[in-house]
Amino acid sequence: MARLYFDHNATSPLRPAAREALIAALDAGNASSVHAEGRSARAKIENARGKIARHFGVRPELVVFTSGATEAANMVLRPALAGLACDRLLLGGGEHPCVVSGHGFAEAVRVALDGEGRLDLADLRAKLTGPGVPMLALQAANNETGVIQPVAEAAAFVHEAGGVVVCDAVQALGRVDCGFAATGADVLFVSSHKIGGPKGVGAAIFARRAVTPAEKLLRGGGQERGFRGGTENVAAIAGFAAAFSEVLAQGAAEMARLGALRDRIEADVLALAPEAVVFGAGAPRLQNTLAFALPGFSAETMVAALDVEGVALSSGSACSSGKVSASAVLGAMGVAPEVARCALRISLGWPNSEQEGVAFPDILAKVRQRMSQRR
Ligand code: PLP
Repeated sequence: MARLYFDHNATSPLRPAAREALIAALDAGNASSVHAEGRSARAKIENARGKIARHFGVRPELVVFTSGATEAANMVLRPALAGLACDRLLLGGGEHPCVVSGHGFAEAVRVALDGEGRLDLADLRAKLTGPGVPMLALQAANNETGVIQPVAEAAAFVHEAGGVVVCDAVQALGRVDCGFAATGADVLFVSSHKIGGPKGVGAAIFARRAVTPAEKLLRGGGQERGFRGGTENVAAIAGFAAAFSEVLAQGAAEMARLGALRDRIEADVLALAPEAVVFGAGAPRLQNTLAFALPGFSAETMVAALDVEGVALSSGSACSSGKVSASAVLGAMGVAPEVARCALRISLGWPNSEQEGVAFPDILAKVRQRMSQRR
């Protein structure tokens, strides 16, 4: 059997439509040139921007292409905005390292998560009191647990306090509604490779000009309305737009199918190992994600053993894999370190089939059996 790739929250393979659009634009001209080659490249970029802008209901100039979500987070999490100045930053307890390390504030205050991984709204309200304009960075859904955050409720409190909400919609895009109306956010950012587009491209999307950053992160030739200098990656942007169109068209049906598959895998894992702990099980979760621990079986060893058996999944977040540190997200949820070190994440995506879901529990059982003999 071919390998089982169950790590779509780390990156999702290129969708055929994205590959086609990417390849078709590889030879594109410089979009700043006035000749036909340049105009054709410009048209591809503006077509992509238009699609994203229409979906989010904003003017095209409020969509800025970046090299991915990490760059977008670094661009937008700044105190000085075009229409106001923020004085302090609050961060959700489960934010991605690109938010935790990428912001431009002198310091940040973390808002607690509850035991299911959802933002503690009472803690947010307490931390919103005090002088100055707050900015809250809150993800729409967590990459490790799939837990969906109460962004709209949080945004209502932040707006009442005169603040701004920046939402990391990377894991939510195409999986749950992460538009401005659903989240109440002022700024959203997304990444192409999580939805089956090429890596190295993403976008920051602003609800209005007043919340765009006053300072430009990449100064240069004035591309992207001055927000990001540098010749645009036309092929990556075109591939991103193709993946974007596909998830908009198929996202709901795809998620329902993957949700049924995830539920089946979850039930099979619990039947195999009733002591397994499923993280965020009591909260709304992305339908493609299952984070669980088999207590006593180190995730590091399990990931390597499953890899040998042809299964690609991850322990904690891929961005922090390689480092053998406990998951900060599970820590913020109050998970005991000895359980957190056993945490595995299955994240499904567009190519995963029912047969793959059916095949997995037997492989897990085999690996678990082998590991128990070694203990
Ligand atoms: N935010 C979340 C929730 C993510 O899962 C990731 C990637 O793992 C990022 C941001 C960073 O995205 P990019 O790889 O486009 O920089």
